[in-house]
Amino acid sequence: MAMYLNSFAQPDGATPAQELVPSRYALRLGEVDILVVSDGVLPLPTETMSTNADPAERAAWFKNMYLGPDMFDWALNVLVVRSGEQTILVDAGLGNQFPGFPRAGLFPKRLKDAGIDLSSITDIVITHMHMDHIGGLLVDSVKNSLRSDVRIHVTATEVDFWKIPDFSLTEMPQPVPDVLRRTANEFIAHYEDCLQIFEDEHEVAPGVVAKLTGGHTPGHCIVHVNSGGERLTFAGDALFPVAFDHPEWHNGFEHDPQKSVDVRVRLLREAAASGELFVATHLPFPSVGHVALDGDAFRWIAAHWDY
Ligand SMILES: [Zn+2]
Repeated sequence: MAMYLNSFAQPDGATPAQELVPSRYALRLGEVDILVVSDGVLPLPTETMSTNADPAERAAWFKNMYLGPDMFDWALNVLVVRSGEQTILVDAGLGNQFPGFPRAGLFPKRLKDAGIDLSSITDIVITHMHMDHIGGLLVDSVKNSLRSDVRIHVTATEVDFWKIPDFSLTEMPQPVPDVLRRTANEFIAHYEDCLQIFEDEHEVAPGVVAKLTGGHTPGHCIVHVNSGGERLTFAGDALFPVAFDHPEWHNGFEHDPQKSVDVRVRLLREAAASGELFVATHLPFPSVGHVALDGDAFRWIAAHWDY
């Protein structure tokens, strides 16, 4: 598809001046501005989406969604939130230091294209320390562009977890666990002085609250934005595209799969009840929509784009 788009833009092989596929989506919630930026996509084996599912059932799901059968592109969505004087980045994508993922690690370029300078970021919320959420902060040009007094908000549980991380309940392709361990520790070592560690809940800026959920990782948090009577939840890795049909499917990257299911179902029920906007890291870009209840099943209702 990407090749097709390149030839569509520039049949003579020249580099197109701009990307043809949109990579950012802006919305406003009361007094708060929100920008979803795509870091690109991360191809992973389809098994990672449902380690406890019958293989035939999993294959049928992917086929019915016109996806797969073997590999699946995980979307990587990063959030920028402007509240008052603060510019808050929520997660930072994969970075470009991991070989084999040429279609990820694009958020620094795309942020720049959106006119947002990394030096304007006052705060960063890390939902959890997996490499596809912190890797972007380990890119040299990003490290060098961030302000030295940037505040990085992360839960105490998450920081503790990565000292002796437990992978006993995960089912990740090799050598992912070692790379995750190394990346998280490199991140903590580099940004130690910037970390703003919180326990269960923390107001990062007016109307922007990070909240511990656990599950995916023990210290995983989500971000609620509340302003002008409207609400949006950034759910991080609490759910994946399969979650609406199969919230009970375990993801191979979940350090506590059963708790992840509980968190997922609770968040989906809350979102369906409140009618709030919902965004998640690995839902298809821009991943802005609503959750609806349809009998016992959940439905994803993508927002109509607001031009
Ligand atoms: Zn992730």
